[in-house]
Amino acid sequence: MLQKVLIANRGEIALRITRACKTLGIKTVGIYSDADKDLMHLRFCDEAVCIGPGASSESYLNIPAIITAAEITGADAIHPGYGFLSENAEFAEIVENSGFTFIGPRPEHIRLMGNKVSAITAMRKAGVPTVPGSAHAVTPTNAMAEAKEIGFPLIVKAASGGGGRGMRIVESVDTLLESVQAAQRDAEMWFSDDTVYMERFLQKPRHVEVQVLADGNGHAIHLYDRDCSLQRRHQKVLEEAPAPNLPEKARADILEACVKACELMQYRGAGTFEFLFEDDEFFFIEMNTRVQVEHPVTEMVTGIDIIEQQLRIAGGLGLNIQQKDVQIKGHAIECRINAEDPTTFLPSPGKIEHFYTPGGAGIRLDSHIYQGYSIPPYYDSMIAKLIAHGKDRETSIARMKQALDEMILTGIKTNIPLHKDLILQDKNFCEKAMDIHYLEKHLLKQLEGHQD
Ligand code: ADP
Repeated sequence: MLQKVLIANRGEIALRITRACKTLGIKTVGIYSDADKDLMHLRFCDEAVCIGPGASSESYLNIPAIITAAEITGADAIHPGYGFLSENAEFAEIVENSGFTFIGPRPEHIRLMGNKVSAITAMRKAGVPTVPGSAHAVTPTNAMAEAKEIGFPLIVKAASGGGGRGMRIVESVDTLLESVQAAQRDAEMWFSDDTVYMERFLQKPRHVEVQVLADGNGHAIHLYDRDCSLQRRHQKVLEEAPAPNLPEKARADILEACVKACELMQYRGAGTFEFLFEDDEFFFIEMNTRVQVEHPVTEMVTGIDIIEQQLRIAGGLGLNIQQKDVQIKGHAIECRINAEDPTTFLPSPGKIEHFYTPGGAGIRLDSHIYQGYSIPPYYDSMIAKLIAHGKDRETSIARMKQALDEMILTGIKTNIPLHKDLILQDKNFCEKAMDIHYLEKHLLKQLEGHQD
């Protein structure tokens, strides 16, 4: 098993990984930027190393500094968390070539899935259903012919895309060429790769994803599914597990297809297959080759510690769970709590004056913040994840409402009112899962001063 893990991340996920390591008796090394000396997990890590100034490019994305920190502390493995370098194949390669264990998939799989065109091609070969579309690079030269095949509306996406950036919906042939060119420019700017592709734009899909774990030697299991349809600007706001109201046959088929694809690739570690789900059909959009923000909802309903499994797999202990041992108990939802204005969504960094954490049956709070902590302006605005678990969806929603009511967080602005007063008060959402446009097109429209 691993002896000492360097955690190449910050915030709540760094704390989450520290907890999992400590539970397994693994020593930990925290890293931090100049702006992050007060991070909570550093108090619990065995060692802590400052790796550079506040800007991510000079610290959490600084590969030589991270490798040096691992060398001087004698760590034997590096956990990348999510975001930052977690899906950077070159980083994974450097980690392994420097003699450390990368806690994640093989670099070749990160690379394969990091390019959506190659990911879609691989999934088609493996028998996973994908969105009807080009599955190869589209340029102004071939765009017309491709669009005829796909039909309108369609969506132009960056092959190296992520974070919901640079997607363009094209309603008709009139705007096709300019959209492809604009998407290429955006893709070059954001991802330094101007490759774009096109697929059918689904009108009212839900976002349903499948969590997998695989040992790297051809044994894989799934931990069922999650629904993450409530999104703003393609960013998830609230997630739940299992995905509500899936037809059993379609669900069983997709779970099996994901497991088979992992076994075929000899995938290693945790991963998530993301799908759009419309008219009882699944369409693959991408695979995330890392742990996801929303992993706790799956942990709550399956009782399986996903980070612990990542550490076990990386440590060569394989999977100690068989598919038949994975059972769903009840329902869980997660609200992402962001330091931002609830109507304008502008970031709201600053000092936390008062913080009272909710608790009670079925409540879990994954967060690194505390009273007196100052949220630096450099990083993502997510500061906490509140998770509620109950015997069914209704109970988890009721517990979440109660927990949000109890949560006191002052000194900064947060999106708690968005969850409490808008989403969880909405009759439609409380009755069933809604589509990916519902939050923006219906709920946010009710907000005074809301900016699109
Ligand atoms: P990213 O990696 O940038 O997050 P994804 O491919 O995962 O990009 O898509 C993010 C979100 O964009 C999806 O959850 C969905 O809301 C929307 N989306 C992506 N592809 C389509 C499509 N073909 N039709 C409709 N919506 C889409």
